[in-house]
Amino acid sequence: MTAADLILRNANVITMDPGQPTAELVAIKGDRILLVASDEELTSVKGARTRIIDCQGKTVVPGFDDAHCHIFSFIRKLLSIDLSPSSVSSIGDIKAAIRLQAQNTPPGKWLSGTGYDEFYLADKRHPDRWDIDDVAPNHPVVLAHRSLHACVLNSLALSLAGITRETPAPSGGLIDRDLNTGEPSGLLFEMLGYIRGKVIPPLSEEEMVKGITLANQHYLSLGITSVQEATVTNDPDQWQTFRRFKDTGKLKSRVSMMFGAEAMSQFQEVGLAPGSGDSQLRLGGVKIILNEATGQLQPPQEKLNQQVFDAHQAGFQLAIHAVEQSTVEAAITALEYAHSRLPQAGRRHRLEHCSECPPHLLERLNKLLAVVVTQPPFLYYSGERYLAQVPASQLPWLYPFKSLLNSGLIVAGSSDSPVVPDNPLVGIYAAVTRKAESGQQLLPQECISASQALAMYTINAAYASFEEDIKGLLAQGKLADMVVLSNDLTESPPEQIKDIRAEMTIIGGEVVWESGLSQ
Ligand SMILES: [Zn+2]
Repeated sequence: MTAADLILRNANVITMDPGQPTAELVAIKGDRILLVASDEELTSVKGARTRIIDCQGKTVVPGFDDAHCHIFSFIRKLLSIDLSPSSVSSIGDIKAAIRLQAQNTPPGKWLSGTGYDEFYLADKRHPDRWDIDDVAPNHPVVLAHRSLHACVLNSLALSLAGITRETPAPSGGLIDRDLNTGEPSGLLFEMLGYIRGKVIPPLSEEEMVKGITLANQHYLSLGITSVQEATVTNDPDQWQTFRRFKDTGKLKSRVSMMFGAEAMSQFQEVGLAPGSGDSQLRLGGVKIILNEATGQLQPPQEKLNQQVFDAHQAGFQLAIHAVEQSTVEAAITALEYAHSRLPQAGRRHRLEHCSECPPHLLERLNKLLAVVVTQPPFLYYSGERYLAQVPASQLPWLYPFKSLLNSGLIVAGSSDSPVVPDNPLVGIYAAVTRKAESGQQLLPQECISASQALAMYTINAAYASFEEDIKGLLAQGKLADMVVLSNDLTESPPEQIKDIRAEMTIIGGEVVWESGLSQ
């Protein structure tokens, strides 16, 4: 047999391959897996130059695949003021953080803060323009809400954006106003993409390189070997940027990139069809955001049906963002419409989030053979908020992982990073325990096993991007993407799963990150 380049031996290998669920040895040749076997096979694949890593009984699993995240937003977060609940607990804290940054930044230069969440602030309200003007009157400032669905601008930023008392709300967006004067308060809904895309100067090359370098290290240190980029404003420009990151080796994790419906014709013009690219960078589905921020479905059902049908007809997978029951239902209705006009099996249309899913909708989803891309870590990071704010009628159907899986649907796991931190082991912990950070538990009857949760972050995530033939499992001929863990998540007490660490990350046969296991 051919000699391997790299062998992991003495390992507790969890393959996610039903034909051979466990093994002790993984041999790698080039970027592919040569053999998954017992340690006895070592001599058959070991050559004079083979590097052998003794895993000392540690657990090896397929590399994690975050099926829904926002890389450019994550880069902005890495380069901006951290206002997440772990860093600030009041508007006073937010003001102090901005004041400090303003003192160290030339006037006129944009300041950006990310991750604030009014529910976790002592004040229980969003900051407004006047709060920020107080501490940074001479810098344009934008603060992004943790959900990315809202942001706050100070007065200088509002004026640079041309938003005044007279400005009407754009389609799908909302400008919050003082009830008495009609003056914008600075709080904007569903307008962050516009502000970042059209008002704030783009990141400089230097900032971009710094950001992607930090992001890359972050992904590798968590064992994230694949990411699925779900930003609705993605177009051929972002595709080119990822291509550059890939060609220069700045981003090691593999990328599947979704994009907005408006960009579909642009991709078609440059000859990029559904699934174009390679195992490093692949063109994913058409992202459509459904929301009710203005109290009405946006886009309206008829327009949604048409958008969905157009993408379906053009051969693209759809990735529809739907959170509340009403939007989940609208998404299902649109997919049913597309399928009835043009029956096409195997299209794997995706529902992103699908946060409220009662049994009758689950049944309709199942008939569509849809894929649900959900976010277990939301339960951990926002569980308290859900318990306080989700209507009692919807609470029984909140992120029903077990019901979704039992119905036979393919369910992929993800973080929606930077909305919440993206450590997959925290996601797996949350799916297994359904516990919030405070320890409060949400719907224990919907807990799933660690193996099921691991599948969500590996083989099921690969399925969601049509790549289960090359990754998501450890088997001969598959891409050699894997991670060595400090403990076996399937054997650990559930409480300890979130503390398990990635000790070595391998992508395409290359050891791209390691901590504990030095040889
Ligand atoms: Zn998202």
